[in-house]
Amino acid sequence: PQPATADIGVYGMGVMGSNLARNLARNGYRTAVGNRSVERTADFMGKHGEEAVFVPSHNMAEFISSLEPPRVGIIMVQAGAATDAVMESMAEHMEAGDIIVDCGNSLFSDTVRREAWCSARGLHFVGAGVSGGEEGALWGPSIMPGGTPESYDRLGPMFEAISAKVDGEPCCTHVGTDGAGHFVKMVHNGIEYADMQVIAEAYDLLKQRLGLSAGEIAEIFAAWNETELGSYLIEITAEVLRQVDAETGTPLVDLIVDRASQKGTGKWTVQNALDLAVPVTAIAEATMARGASSATEQRQAARTFAGHTANDEITNKEAFIEDVRQALYASKIVAYSQGFDQITEAAKTYGWDINRANVARIWRGGCIIRAVFLGDITEAYERNSELPLLMADENFAAKIDAAVPAWRRVVADAVLHGVPTPVFSSSLVYFDMLRAKRLPAALIQGQRDFFGAHTYQRTDKEGTFHTFWAEPG
Ligand code: NAP
Repeated sequence: PQPATADIGVYGMGVMGSNLARNLARNGYRTAVGNRSVERTADFMGKHGEEAVFVPSHNMAEFISSLEPPRVGIIMVQAGAATDAVMESMAEHMEAGDIIVDCGNSLFSDTVRREAWCSARGLHFVGAGVSGGEEGALWGPSIMPGGTPESYDRLGPMFEAISAKVDGEPCCTHVGTDGAGHFVKMVHNGIEYADMQVIAEAYDLLKQRLGLSAGEIAEIFAAWNETELGSYLIEITAEVLRQVDAETGTPLVDLIVDRASQKGTGKWTVQNALDLAVPVTAIAEATMARGASSATEQRQAARTFAGHTANDEITNKEAFIEDVRQALYASKIVAYSQGFDQITEAAKTYGWDINRANVARIWRGGCIIRAVFLGDITEAYERNSELPLLMADENFAAKIDAAVPAWRRVVADAVLHGVPTPVFSSSLVYFDMLRAKRLPAALIQGQRDFFGAHTYQRTDKEGTFHTFWAEPG
């Protein structure tokens, strides 16, 4: 075999793997590259071989032998069976103490299983969430590694070097053991669904209630980007709305079929939230909204309904625009607060020690949900690392309080006029549920005890109770 010459290796020369390899090499790490079909590696070397120091390989044995021990092999292939196949073949050629890193979008429970499998063979396995798409992988993603602290000692400096930086701080931290990194990446994607949906709801309200054009709404989003809503998603929304189709001269957004696709990370987030019994209503509604948009036959069948919507027009347009902005902001706080609840509960259930301030810190740059707002979340958890509810942090509580009247006006207006706002509406409902002095859950408990003797607790004394309910008359 050749002498080991690479500091780290990337296996999987797809879009993400190639860009991650180029990022590592640009930062001075000699980077081994490999791929199942060798043509792809050759193609990569042809295009980028001169950029920096790459060590190409023809097969896994060569790829692994080109790495300096303790070896670090990154897997960047499709999640699922492909990742298992590459992991097993990597493990076959590795030695105790070596590190396998999965940078794909794997399900965290697969990562937990893979970590146990590798650990039984004396290897480290690190599931690392990587956000930011192709550009992020090349120029600086947000990286969320799990795995052992020892593996982070070796990996951390490299990952921090290639990650995005905000105020000189890297958007990478050791999130927690085994699947914690992929879990946090999953919730990041779930929050991304909610964030995109609240922006879409604001757009729809401005379009339907004020009759504004895509171009006019673009200017509103561009202005909002200068407020506390400032974020990558708001910024690109303005860009998307500005785009005019060259062929027809029509705003492109008006020509795009209104069915939103999904690749599954929103679904995973909601499935896990159901397992943990954490109400992530904003993420769930956003995921369901994509499903509803794609329910073509049902939408067609429902077009015949009259709807009986109110038909009055908005008189004070400026005030309505500001109301929508505040409703968007309040709903966004709810979505993030729920996402952090899910992380908090997962940490307890799966035994992870997750520093929530650090999670918010590494989401400030490099990833799709990067925003000014994440600095505020970092500060909230720095003020109180035990914070039981993110939206109750003093800064967010004051902002929600100030936004509530506008939020109620917007949701009421949307309901009356038949503009569907699933996340604006359900987030307001969730807010009202949390602040309620008493919930009708008491009645649910009574019903459960009636038909199933499921017992209940009382407000006036300790213990568990069952009642012999009066028979129905
Ligand atoms: P891609 O361009 O479609 O490339 C797929 C890679 O997987 C190829 O190198 C392919 O090798 C390899 N592969 C597939 N099945 C394999 C198998 N059974 N054994 C070995 N190799 C196999 O994929 P990508 O967009 O770079 O995505 C890679 C990962 O990054 C995924 O987990 C994705 O979810 C995640 N990710 C993507 C983005 C994004 O914006 N695209 C963002 C974040 C995370 P061959 O050339 O031999 O077919």
